[in-house]
Amino acid sequence: MRSIVDELVSVLGADKVSVDEATLAAYAMDRAPVLDYQLPVAVVRAGSVADVQAAVRACTARRVSLVARGAGTGLSGGAHASEGCVVLSLELMNRILDLNPDDETAVVEPGVINADLNAAAALHGLMYAPDPASYKLSTIGGNVATNAGGLRCAKYGVTRDSVLALDVVLADGTLIHTGHRTFKGVAGYDLTGLFVGSEGTLGIVVGITVRLRYLPREVHTIAAFYPDFRSAAAGVLTVGNARVQPAIMELLDGGSLAQLDRIHGSELASRGASLLLIQTDGFGAAAEAAAIRPLLAAGGAVVTMAASAEAEQLVELRRNSRGVEVDDEYRVGEDVAVPRSRLVDYVAELQAMAVKHAVQLKVVAHAGDGNLHPTFWVDRTGTGVDADAMERLGAALDDSVTVALAMGGTITGEHGVGQYKLRWLGLEQKEPVRELQRRIKELFDPAGILNPGKAI
Ligand SMILES: Cc1cc2nc3c(=O)[nH]c(=O)nc-3n(C[C@H](O)[C@H](O)[C@H](O)COP(=O)(O)OP(=O)(O)OC[C@H]3O[C@@H](n4cnc5c(N)ncnc54)[C@H](O)[C@@H]3O)c2cc1C
Repeated sequence: MRSIVDELVSVLGADKVSVDEATLAAYAMDRAPVLDYQLPVAVVRAGSVADVQAAVRACTARRVSLVARGAGTGLSGGAHASEGCVVLSLELMNRILDLNPDDETAVVEPGVINADLNAAAALHGLMYAPDPASYKLSTIGGNVATNAGGLRCAKYGVTRDSVLALDVVLADGTLIHTGHRTFKGVAGYDLTGLFVGSEGTLGIVVGITVRLRYLPREVHTIAAFYPDFRSAAAGVLTVGNARVQPAIMELLDGGSLAQLDRIHGSELASRGASLLLIQTDGFGAAAEAAAIRPLLAAGGAVVTMAASAEAEQLVELRRNSRGVEVDDEYRVGEDVAVPRSRLVDYVAELQAMAVKHAVQLKVVAHAGDGNLHPTFWVDRTGTGVDADAMERLGAALDDSVTVALAMGGTITGEHGVGQYKLRWLGLEQKEPVRELQRRIKELFDPAGILNPGKAI
């Protein structure tokens, strides 16, 4: 039998198959910490559904693992190469196939960049709502495979809430279509929902039909600076209790503000120890903002008083507040979520953990969803870090996860389990549920070639 590389070249053509070391290294990892570095044996850049089918069939026939890849911005190691695998890049399949302003839907190939779909939708007064902070880089296929969240998800829901139908290449190369072009539709089991968030373990997503929303004509952005992080977290509940639904509700602690100041030359940290950023949208935006402002001020915040261009710039800064430094062995970050009623308690626990384990802490949160990204780190000196720094970081990270679970939360609000969070999955999902998931995986991928060792 021919080698997998020879077979791929023969069915796809040499121009779509790379085996040079630089390309293999560039496609070996996403942006998560690397637990187990492996180079793929080949990178395939698919240009069509037929290419994907050919690559999948070749891998299945030879029992070679296949790791789907969008832009590689994932933070959980979902797109990390596994031993002897082929990486299947969908980045060249980047056409918007249809955009129907009357149906308020679009059909896209998986490699379309989130921001490009939004730019196209905006021409019709529409938007694709899920907006991960990586929206200028990440692909809709990757967003679907991770069920990505984002800033606007506080009001519009996560990726799954915007996906109506999918075209998927199964492990045997069959192309299936799930779902419908209508907003409603309840025929049979919800396979579309199952594929969303399946991290490339059940099939390769080659087409996505999404629901679009109305691009708000008006937005009001409020910056509320608080003297401490816990009061800012309490502000999130205050807004909810007023029964006002902002589109965006983001929380940054003092460490995150200081970091933005260092990078952008701003002076945010001098204005407060924590920032709650709220954006209301739609025709009621001004009225909603007016209802919220006095409540935040009563909770101790210094609040911007008019629809503020500066506050909108802060939202942009927030979108860029993660990813400026990559997590590594001395800097570890998580993606937990807790019920909103526990936000204040959880933030207090995080601060106590940092003190207990003698590590540094900074936190940004999609607070409207109770989804927090705490980052723990230890300062490096010229000679490295002190001897037990790694254990202290690991202990803080484990605590941040177990405390979130004890509060009724989850180990991952939006980044997915990938490779990195498998170690905690058993704490959240008990064996009967995990066994059911393994059986679902077996049904879709009996040979176990699709992104093995990830997600479940
Ligand atoms: C600066 C920065 C900010 C971020 N902010 C957010 C945020 O706010 N919210 C959020 O949710 N995430 C965020 N992320 C994480 C990341 O951007 C998302 O997980 C995103 O959805 C990944 O898309 P991607 O195209 O890069 O996918 P990749 O990283 O390439 O892949 C992600 C997973 O999807 C699988 N996959 C990719 N394409 C397909 C396909 N076509 N079919 C089947 N499986 C596929 C891969 O195998 C992998 O398991 C951020 C990342 C960075 C670097």
